[in-house]
Amino acid sequence: MPDGMVAARASESTNSETQQIDVAVVGAGFAGLYLLHRLRKAGFSAVVLEEADDVGGTWYWNRYPGARCDIQTIDYSYTFDPELESAWKWSEKYATQPEILRYLGFVADRYDLRRDIRFGTKVTAATWDEGAQRWLLTTDNRAKVSCRHYIMATGCLSAPKPPEIEGVKDFKGEVYFTSRWPHAEVKLAGKRVAVIGTGSSGIQAIPLIAEQAAHLTVFQRTPNFALPAHNGPAPADRLALLEGDHAGYREQARWSLGGVPWPQQTVVSWQLSDAERRERFEKAWATGDLIYILTQLWADQAVDADGNALLADLIREKIRSTVHDPETAAALTPHDHPFGAKRPCLDTNYYATYNRPNVTLVNLRQEPIKAITSSGITTDKRGFDVDVIVFATGFDAMTGAIRAVHPIKGRGGKSLSDVWAHGPQTYLGLTVAGFPNLFMITGPGSPSVLSNMAVSIEQHVDWVVDRLTAMREAGFAAIEATDAAQAGWARHMADCSMLTLHRLANTWYTGANVPGKAQGVMPYTGGVGPYRSICNEVVGQGMLGFRLTGPNVPEQCNDGEIVRLQPDVRLVLNMLAEMKLPPLESFGSQGARDFVAQFNAARPAGRPVGEVVDGTLPSTDGPLPYRLYRPATPGPHPIVVYFHGGGWVLGDAQSDDPFCRDMCRRTGMIFVSVGYRHAPEHRFPTAAEDGYAAARWIAEHATELGGKVGPVLVAGWSAGGNIAAVTCQLARDRGGPQIAGQLLVCPVTDCTFDRPSYNDNVTGYFLTRSLMYWFWDLYSSPADRADPRVSPLRGKLAGLPPAYVVTCEFDPLRDEGIAYADALAAAGIAVEQLQARGHFHSSFTMVDVVITGVSGRARMAEAMRRFAGLPQEPRQGHESVRQGLPREVDAAAN
Ligand code: NAP
Repeated sequence: MPDGMVAARASESTNSETQQIDVAVVGAGFAGLYLLHRLRKAGFSAVVLEEADDVGGTWYWNRYPGARCDIQTIDYSYTFDPELESAWKWSEKYATQPEILRYLGFVADRYDLRRDIRFGTKVTAATWDEGAQRWLLTTDNRAKVSCRHYIMATGCLSAPKPPEIEGVKDFKGEVYFTSRWPHAEVKLAGKRVAVIGTGSSGIQAIPLIAEQAAHLTVFQRTPNFALPAHNGPAPADRLALLEGDHAGYREQARWSLGGVPWPQQTVVSWQLSDAERRERFEKAWATGDLIYILTQLWADQAVDADGNALLADLIREKIRSTVHDPETAAALTPHDHPFGAKRPCLDTNYYATYNRPNVTLVNLRQEPIKAITSSGITTDKRGFDVDVIVFATGFDAMTGAIRAVHPIKGRGGKSLSDVWAHGPQTYLGLTVAGFPNLFMITGPGSPSVLSNMAVSIEQHVDWVVDRLTAMREAGFAAIEATDAAQAGWARHMADCSMLTLHRLANTWYTGANVPGKAQGVMPYTGGVGPYRSICNEVVGQGMLGFRLTGPNVPEQCNDGEIVRLQPDVRLVLNMLAEMKLPPLESFGSQGARDFVAQFNAARPAGRPVGEVVDGTLPSTDGPLPYRLYRPATPGPHPIVVYFHGGGWVLGDAQSDDPFCRDMCRRTGMIFVSVGYRHAPEHRFPTAAEDGYAAARWIAEHATELGGKVGPVLVAGWSAGGNIAAVTCQLARDRGGPQIAGQLLVCPVTDCTFDRPSYNDNVTGYFLTRSLMYWFWDLYSSPADRADPRVSPLRGKLAGLPPAYVVTCEFDPLRDEGIAYADALAAAGIAVEQLQARGHFHSSFTMVDVVITGVSGRARMAEAMRRFAGLPQEPRQGHESVRQGLPREVDAAAN
């Protein structure tokens, strides 16, 4: 049946009856309209309850001058019906509010949606009826509604925030809110106008108001980053892409990070010269596209404070060069948040507007508003008489429209407001435990406002309607998220929030704009494509985390957490799984070495350090190579003798190069990565003896190497962790060198394979059980394996240097690492453990790929500095809370 000819069941009601319906939807915006269409098509009776007297949602209410979308309109459109796509042509790159409203009206008419929308109807309460397994809604207009499922399509930015300024009621002039702009023309010509607020709404409205008003005074509390929209016709290159492969373009958007089909950027800022970065930036500035500048310049701008600062500085330069008055330019220049952590704006002539003689900027950071009076606005320092005040003060975002608009009472009469008192709790941003059959479209906990909303809305609507259809077919009447699934989602959300810089800004994303609101990053920061795959996985795993019940069918509850891995670890492992690589051990030792070298060549290059020197050091059987990483700071620095991973068979300085660079930068110490000899050519105890000999030589040649004379430190990952641990034991027993501390990252410590982690993580986490068996077989015979030089857990542990032991949850070696740390502690050694949740064996060495490993490496560096007796340094890069930035919210501890 063509989409345009969908027949729906009638949903008539009278004033006195309760309207009986399968599904009730609140809101007739982008989400509500598509929901109604899909629900009808799936054969559900449905009604949409809409407070406004027409369709449009946010585009109905926000009609202020200059209101436009700021995602290119060809992307900000429905994609569910190719015929609809060819039936509508946008006139501009960024359509105006009236055009978008016309589009939504066109959609409503095309699918005959209005007949099932009750306009002018506000829901006043929603209560779950346990006995009937239905929601009962009361409204302020006509009949109540009894529905099986209740869906909030209320939008994320629908509940305006009160202005929170004394005296608004005293003002005798005209007052307007951008979020509730009148339908009748507002005449500003010849008037003195004040605008309070410089978010997207203010930034869009200010230039147009300035053109009309006799004088415009802008009251700015926090400056925002704004970029020129360069509006006009849709860009030819984007149109050509879309028209060249319509379906492919849309599909790419669905799997992208932001919901717009741009490729993922892999080049990081320090791989580019100043000139290259500037060239990329100027191109982005000329492109006029938010998603482009947020994703296409360099890969670290959204995840690392330093990478971000490079871009923010370039934008600040643009502001200074546009605004003539230096004091005004300084006031307009944001310094309190990373670019993108607060929603950046697209503008047309925003900064240039401040060059007009009829525009004044008042910096509320220097002179806060004291009150609104009958004639205008008074700050700490002066009074401003105005005829009109425009509040562009924003919204109680994401939760406002769901939580505050009407009481929602779930199972046992629990109110959603109470459940969310300390912040929104959801499963997938779609459902809430304790509230059966309640769904939210683009709710908190989903990508929503961090994405192209059109794409996210379609994904949610499709997911919900498909689930309702499947439930009906299986005879289930109710669906509810479990507490465990919801708690797991909260953890995953917190893990994701470590990936971006949103937690470093006070914004409506975190609830910071509403006094008293619980704070935490509300949207899902893991990206649109990954989120979609998670939602699909929930279904694929038998509705994981949902309890499904029905009158004549047994209850179904496949409880659990959908994502236990760190978000970036999940991406890496999914990517590896898609590559369908043969087991590493099937290549043979040389083939495996070649493969690893090739694999490593595709990684981002390590970060610059002061100096990298390759050299050789003597051993009993000839020279061993080493690579020395020297910090850029003045020396002499303490020396860390480092052993790479690779199961005693693979690896070299190159394989652990990014890790050594990163740790050299973080610790401020020299790292000397030792090229010990490998099995099977050199079996046990060669690696151990080479490691020890190297540590001794390095300690004895500290001055020659430019390092600090005195105890060295040792560190290693995997089999390198094994060699580091063994070196400490040999140094204790053989009269030196003195070792100040040991860092053991996912170390091999014992030759038994019966600890649970060997069974929990047999495959799927890159280092497999069979690969470990292979490594052991190549390196040592069973007779040798109990020797402490390969199983240090079996050695004497008293008298060893202090240790920092890192283990990863999804690693066969996890439990032997923990066992070693516990045994060290039992032997009286000062030992600290980092048991990294959601990480896998390679998490910490995949620097700049596994971003969530950063906090772990920061802690390792802190421990190393403690061992060396150095003072702690402020954390770098992604970890740093740069001066002036607010404290982190919801940072996940690993
Ligand atoms: P907003 O970004 O929250 O901005 C509100 C502004 O009002 C901020 O500058 C805020 O300052 C200021 N403010 C709030 N209360 C104040 C007070 N009591 N005294 C002084 N200043 C006060 O709200 P918005 O501009 O309406 O935009 C919200 C979101 O809607 C946007 O981020 C965007 O996602 C969306 N939007 C999109 C478009 C588009 O697509 N083109 C257009 C408009 C809006 P502080 O920063 O100090 O709190």
